Amino acid sequence: MPELPEVEVTRRGVAPHLEGQVVTGVALRHTGLRWPFPAALAQTLVGHTVRSTGRRGKYLLLNFDHGTLIIHLGMSGHLRILPSDVPPKKHDHFDLETGSQLLRLSDPRRFGAVLWHAAEEGSIENHLLLRTLGVEPLEAGFSAQWLYQQTRKRSSAIKQVLLAGDIVVGVGNIYASESLFQARINPRTPAHRIGLARYERLAEAIRQILAAAIEQGGSTLKDFIGVNGQSGYFQQNYFTYARAGEPCRICKTPIRQIVQGQRSTFYCPNCQK
Ligand SMILES: [Zn+2]
Repeated sequence: MPELPEVEVTRRGVAPHLEGQVVTGVALRHTGLRWPFPAALAQTLVGHTVRSTGRRGKYLLLNFDHGTLIIHLGMSGHLRILPSDVPPKKHDHFDLETGSQLLRLSDPRRFGAVLWHAAEEGSIENHLLLRTLGVEPLEAGFSAQWLYQQTRKRSSAIKQVLLAGDIVVGVGNIYASESLFQARINPRTPAHRIGLARYERLAEAIRQILAAAIEQGGSTLKDFIGVNGQSGYFQQNYFTYARAGEPCRICKTPIRQIVQGQRSTFYCPNCQK
């Protein structure tokens, strides 16, 4: 599943090809993905200019003067910039054409989304899918103080509080395990039992790990969005993730795997207290 770094790298990859470009066509090859495609999307977009791109959580935003196109990659989606004469393949459900190029969304499992939010409906931040999202981990609103304040009444395990996404977005399953390892916090610790000093370490770990993943993804950007690009997770050297039974890279204790909220968590029982 694409996580925040993949979406941000995708945004950075497609932005120079889209910003300032006029939409010349829209191709929809299915009735929809997770939700139906917006009615009359071609009439809405053709002739209008993509002013800027943005991202909120894992939602990619293409901003027009009269509204915002929201794209979500779901479980299996990926976006590419292609010459407009490249024939679509089986799972290529959506194209946004800008003259000689197009933005193509391929989504085999169809859990992704393409939605339109008209400017007259108000701020994009108030969109049904965006308004419950927590703060962006790489922006100024995110801090140890924020984590501390927001968790005073949260007795569930810190790993699950991170995954819930209502306090901070974009800390998915891999990055939650890795951040908690770097912060030396046991993933089962009730969130309200964690003090400010440990949240300082956690906030720093989350920022560092997400920024490093984006930076690493940026170095593979050409492949990621190119004709022959591979989608999916960036190859990274994880400390805990998917390393059950292997020795901790710090203390050699075997990495333990547990299940929390039906998701696998990996941690070092010695390093993380
Ligand atoms: Zn260890």
